[in-house]
Amino acid sequence: MTYFLSLGSNLGDKRRNLKRAIGHLKNASVRILRASSLYQTQPVGNADQPWFVNQAVEVETDRTPWALLALLQSIEKKMGRTKTIRNSPRLIDLDILLAADTIMDTPDLVIPHPRMTARNFVLVPLYEIAPDVLHPVLGKPAAALLAESCDRSGVHKIGRWSSRSRPSEPRQEIGSFSKTHSRNGGS
Ligand code: AMP
Repeated sequence: MTYFLSLGSNLGDKRRNLKRAIGHLKNASVRILRASSLYQTQPVGNADQPWFVNQAVEVETDRTPWALLALLQSIEKKMGRTKTIRNSPRLIDLDILLAADTIMDTPDLVIPHPRMTARNFVLVPLYEIAPDVLHPVLGKPAAALLAESCDRSGVHKIGRWSSRSRPSEPRQEIGSFSKTHSRNGGS
């Protein structure tokens, strides 16, 4: 099955953390089909913490959503993530956004991810790699979800991760908004 995942980190070497997480996925025979650029993103919910680096990836695996969630959680643990309080700083956060047209709502796993439509740090990278991918509950593509998003948090592209491209850490512009991705007329 094809899945879209969201990766995020706001502790330590954030870009390296995302790279390591992708390495763990590959080692577990998860095929990376598409990977977005990296984005420096303003924390949502709890502003008193470092900015995040976020990325979206499309992957393919035979795993069920439950098995994939277990894998993501084992990778988070292996990488040393300890805190699990919502909206708190984290070394690595791995979420399932979409699982083809699967819809599920259980106490431990909700797909599509319940907060994806309210988070530009998810929607902007997703839009980059799959503007046409449909949210199976809302019946709308990622492009429409982003256009309709009310989130005004900053989301700044910082370049594709690669061994040849090591962009310098962007300035942390608390309170500024991305012009590139401000689709609600404001900046
Ligand atoms: P977080 O602290 O944001 O990483 O949330 C982790 C918790 O969210 C885990 O206990 C999961 O069981 C739960 N969860 C529910 N739906 C999802 C999803 N689509 N992807 C990842 N975690 C999920």
